[in-house]
Amino acid sequence: MRRVYISSFLNVGIRVPVACGSKVKEVLGVTPYISSVNAPAPGRRGSIKEIAEVLKTLSFPQALRLLLLVKLEGDEELSYFEGKGVLVNLSPFWSPDEALLFERSRKLSLYLLAKSLGLGSCKKSTCLMGGFKASYELDTLGYLCSSCERELKAQAISEKST
Ligand SMILES: [Zn+2]
Repeated sequence: MRRVYISSFLNVGIRVPVACGSKVKEVLGVTPYISSVNAPAPGRRGSIKEIAEVLKTLSFPQALRLLLLVKLEGDEELSYFEGKGVLVNLSPFWSPDEALLFERSRKLSLYLLAKSLGLGSCKKSTCLMGGFKASYELDTLGYLCSSCERELKAQAISEKST
């Protein structure tokens, strides 16, 4: 299986992608590459689309996916994925409670990774793939149910190198 890359901007810090990486490893069984983008974080409204445009142009031939963790204040859009790029906007789910922030970031990253690999909606009430709109909904959910977890692994393994 190819690896997942997880990177973050400075205003997110390195500890969040590390926390997400441990969950991705637990689910996929492969250690992701973790890094932090050494650049000022984009912050203005609308920049989520600009970042998505940049993501489209990035080439990671050996990567399964590149998750870019951002915190864009005032941007309502949660996320975006295009090709191998997955933009994870943590802003609507941000918390000063680090343990809570880590848990939400792990769930959001896993959810978007699964979506970008083609997983659909799940009907199990505690499964992450049932979907969520706000933090309080995300907090009531667990991670992936066993069938979604199996499907995620199968998709990650079967996806052809491009
Ligand atoms: Zn499920």
